[in-house]
Amino acid sequence: MIFGKQENMFFLTKQIKFTKFAKKKTKSLFFSSIKPSQNHYNSEYLNRENFDLIYEKIKDARREKDAPVDYFGSEACVEQGGGKEAENFQRLIALIISVQNRDKSTAEAMDKMKKNGLSLEQINEMDEESIKNMIGNVNYKNKKAKFIKQAASIIKNKYDSVIPTKLEELLEFPGIGYKIAVLYLNDTLQDNIGIGVDTHVHRIANRLGWVNTKEDRNKTRTELESFIPKEKWRELNGLLVGFGQQICLPIQPKCHSCPLKFLCPIPK
Ligand code: SF4
Repeated sequence: MIFGKQENMFFLTKQIKFTKFAKKKTKSLFFSSIKPSQNHYNSEYLNRENFDLIYEKIKDARREKDAPVDYFGSEACVEQGGGKEAENFQRLIALIISVQNRDKSTAEAMDKMKKNGLSLEQINEMDEESIKNMIGNVNYKNKKAKFIKQAASIIKNKYDSVIPTKLEELLEFPGIGYKIAVLYLNDTLQDNIGIGVDTHVHRIANRLGWVNTKEDRNKTRTELESFIPKEKWRELNGLLVGFGQQICLPIQPKCHSCPLKFLCPIPK
């Protein structure tokens, strides 16, 4: 049957109406499975009711493990097979270098250091200037070279060449704050010592309404640790960092293709 122009317009209008109805229906069905209050964003409101659902969706979005943090993050910089203490030392150095630095540039600096033999003994024999030259591509290279040198000396002289495994002891090292200390201990001990909050974790936790701590990153950590189950603390950093590198970007986040677009209170 061949339709005239008028009939075609009639069917087209019907089809558009039906598509709009179907979309509305799908959305309302989806929202009916979400706890009701989460859809209202204001600075006071905390969106924690759907934490488990959001967490699973982020895990799913990160299943390929193909973000820069997966290829170049501090854990990826550790040479395997050199023994536990040698691996721990490289892990600690990678974390010191990684502060306010891009993962790729951290990996490049670590590669240069590993070519020279990145071990406790080697660093203790080197002078600060040589370390600075090797990590020349990273932010705050002067300070970081100093911190690396000091860490190697403390580990050798105070702890008999074994990196301490107590949080309070690590926090006494110059240049090692809570984030580095817990990320180090979480990986070294394969435990959930604390949540490492960096710029990605801080930003995403605030955008999702898990916390309302935009001005204070330390508060983000204490707030997150107050309601997130401990068994998730170790995993959280890597998940959110990659999610922040690929989807919830600092500028122009990809909200329209984000799997959390109906769960996130940020207006789209
Ligand atoms: S919807 Fe946008 S702001 Fe919210 S988590 Fe996704 S990318 Fe980030």
